[in-house]
Amino acid sequence: MAAPAGPAVSALHPVLGHEELRASLGRAYRRGDLPGSVLLHGPRGIGKQRLALWLAQLVVCQEDESSPCGRCGPCRMALSLEHPDIHWYFPLPRPKNASGDRLVDALEIARHRELAEIRAEPKRPSWSDEIQALYLGTVTNIRAAAAKRPSMAGPVFIVGQAELLVPQEASQEAANALLKLLEEPPGDARFILTSSEPGMLLATIRSRTVAVHVPPLRIDQVRTFLEEHLEVEPKVADWAATLSQGSPGRAMAFLPDEGEPGPLEGLRRRAFETVVAATSTDPSAGYEVAITFPPSGARKLIDLFGFVEEWLRDLAAAAANADDLVFNQDALARLKKHVAAAAIDPVRIPDAFPAVERARELARGNVNPQLVMSGLVRDLRRALRPAAIAQPGAILP
Ligand SMILES: [Zn+2]
Repeated sequence: MAAPAGPAVSALHPVLGHEELRASLGRAYRRGDLPGSVLLHGPRGIGKQRLALWLAQLVVCQEDESSPCGRCGPCRMALSLEHPDIHWYFPLPRPKNASGDRLVDALEIARHRELAEIRAEPKRPSWSDEIQALYLGTVTNIRAAAAKRPSMAGPVFIVGQAELLVPQEASQEAANALLKLLEEPPGDARFILTSSEPGMLLATIRSRTVAVHVPPLRIDQVRTFLEEHLEVEPKVADWAATLSQGSPGRAMAFLPDEGEPGPLEGLRRRAFETVVAATSTDPSAGYEVAITFPPSGARKLIDLFGFVEEWLRDLAAAAANADDLVFNQDALARLKKHVAAAAIDPVRIPDAFPAVERARELARGNVNPQLVMSGLVRDLRRALRPAAIAQPGAILP
């Protein structure tokens, strides 16, 4: 997608939607009631980190209003991500060839590089193919910054996708180090954590933050954002907004990029192939799909499973002739064709969901993706085509 015209260092785009939430957060802050540690939680890509930056801007703003003025010096610094007291941390790919103190430094360099990229192009999809995490080194950097006196106000620490402190790329130690900061924030420091999977945060971290739910946007707000801020043509904007579940970051991840399907569109297509293969009359078709997955990186499959569930619901709707209930309307004709060819029985489809849940658990445990996928295909067949499983071809684990 084309970068918008403008200076290389551009201001952050305005916060999309969330008007009521901003009003109540703003009032709470001015009354002195805003807790020192807040957890903004809600679906991925709906602008939680942007909202956290808005709240940080409110803290540093020189005016006494319940929303930041946008004109004072501190506001302008906040909007260009250059305010010295707003510290924004987010998951990053693990820097190569660095460990110990060098890893700590490499993470800080990588974060500043990323911040420079965000300044140049703040509107970015919320999905990437890279495995990213928050590391113990990230928390070491947060602690070092928190130990310094703020230059002007605050300081405010934003930790995006805080649940990524827990996976194996980070460590329990990282979570515990953050916990100490949340327990005893130095001076006037504030912490704003964001998470789309608050259930995966350590219970001790959850219990030391006040949870604030951030709801999805309306589909028309997402469509307008795509058309007005990204200059996406109306038909494509409409398509991506419909698939977005009210998340602009999700919508952007469906948009084609340099001729390739966006990362989520790629996953949606793979999930469709998987479901079609697992339910086809050819018993080996599913395994042929499974072995096309890479032998490592199972956590990347978790997004795929959300699409598998969506396609299963769509197959059930199409098989029951409830075409209006099909979510992926752009694939309705293909769904109907497959339902007829494979004689899909909609009554059986609910039995397939536990198979997806099992696969999700295995992927969280980082089991070999090929094993996870062949297990999923086998279990889907067992649920949906019980007569077919005794046939040859079902020999992989
Ligand atoms: Zn201001």
